[in-house]
Amino acid sequence: MTAESTSAGPSSAAAGANAALFERAVAVIPGGVNSPVRAFRSVGGTPYFVARAEGPHVWDTEGRRLLDLVQSYGAIIAGHAHPTIVEAVRRAAGDGTSYGAPTEREVLLAEEIRARVPGCERVRLVSSGTEATMSALRLARGATGRDRIVKFAGNYHGHSDGLLAEAGSGVALIEGTVSPGSAGVPAGAVADTAVVPYNRVPTLDDTVAAVIVEPVAANMGLVAPRPGFLEGLRAECDRVGAVLIFDEVITGFRLARGGAQERYGVTPDLSCFGKVIGGGLNVGAFGGRADLMEHLAPLGPVYQAGTLSGNPLATAAGLAALSLLDADAYAALDRTAARLAGGLDGALAAAGIDHHVGRVGPLVGLHLAAGEPHDYDDARRTDTDLYAALFHAVLDRGVALAPGPYEITFPGLAHDDAVIDAIVERVADAARHVAP
Ligand SMILES: *Cc1c(COP(=O)(O)O)cnc(C)c1O
Repeated sequence: MTAESTSAGPSSAAAGANAALFERAVAVIPGGVNSPVRAFRSVGGTPYFVARAEGPHVWDTEGRRLLDLVQSYGAIIAGHAHPTIVEAVRRAAGDGTSYGAPTEREVLLAEEIRARVPGCERVRLVSSGTEATMSALRLARGATGRDRIVKFAGNYHGHSDGLLAEAGSGVALIEGTVSPGSAGVPAGAVADTAVVPYNRVPTLDDTVAAVIVEPVAANMGLVAPRPGFLEGLRAECDRVGAVLIFDEVITGFRLARGGAQERYGVTPDLSCFGKVIGGGLNVGAFGGRADLMEHLAPLGPVYQAGTLSGNPLATAAGLAALSLLDADAYAALDRTAARLAGGLDGALAAAGIDHHVGRVGPLVGLHLAAGEPHDYDDARRTDTDLYAALFHAVLDRGVALAPGPYEITFPGLAHDDAVIDAIVERVADAARHVAP
């Protein structure tokens, strides 16, 4: 399914176009970007600006074609500009872009989520992963009448105040911040957030409203749950009556048809989704047990709303994306990821670079230090300077990794064997080039 294009890029392609755009961008947008990691601060240099994308490729504004492993940080699973998704959006747009009244596609998307994730008896659609986790926590607090929440160091749940404490992803790169994880977050906002190490089951008490966890941690590189960790969280939450929330914004509909909860056989009370279910448009969702979800307005006292929630274009894109994700697709994703992980492992080993290539199903993460990481302390041993050097050497060879050492790679349905082999070959060459 590799989409080869005869076009070399936009007609405006010109040397220096990326730098010129970045110069204009920084004059009008803080740091030149609308999400910090895109600014290349942790790898140095300045970003390429994307002109268009198709399948496994993106073209920058200078007409350079990159083999893309960023894939919108996991929002894209079927490759860029998949014709099924493009056509669904095109058709939806012709019928109007937002109404402020319910539509059939919202029902269809909620039904599709429930069919895949049996724990989601009720589903509410929002517009981002951040909104999903923020709303799920409010719901857990409202339903239990308790304030305290527990999160795990290195897990990222979006940028709402109460969750920006020792978060991974880009937050891991802001130095000197431990808790709260950002200036502007009042101490009070995280006073009820306890941060504990990943892969260890904390002892809770009956002041805890919720435990929120990435069932496979994918924002501190890739850190797999140890056997028994998720089961232990389930049991401990049950013991004290706390709500167990799985943040499946990355794992949902990617790790398996029913996400991490299907793969590990542990059912949370609430689940949060984003990324894949929007097909590249703005969708998030949270869902769970009916008795919990019915605390939400208009049925209950927990307020949650959104002008663009369940947007017609976004639900059309999400339904189209999910329609592509059948059993064959998950088998293909697994094979592709195994090929990539094996190739990257061989490439780094041949270059004599200490590393661990983590893989859980279709998720593949690079850890540039010896040994498998199990928590945030382990994850932060990754050699961030070496990652920066490798990132640029790889980019010079036409492969786009994420511009941050704690992001993972997202091989998808458009990465066929030839694409994976080309990526591995270029990474191998880059690794030889940067090896210490
Ligand atoms: C990306 C991400 C979020 C936040 O989603 P946004 O759509 O960026 O707001 C939340 N949780 C996890 C695990 C994520 O990877």
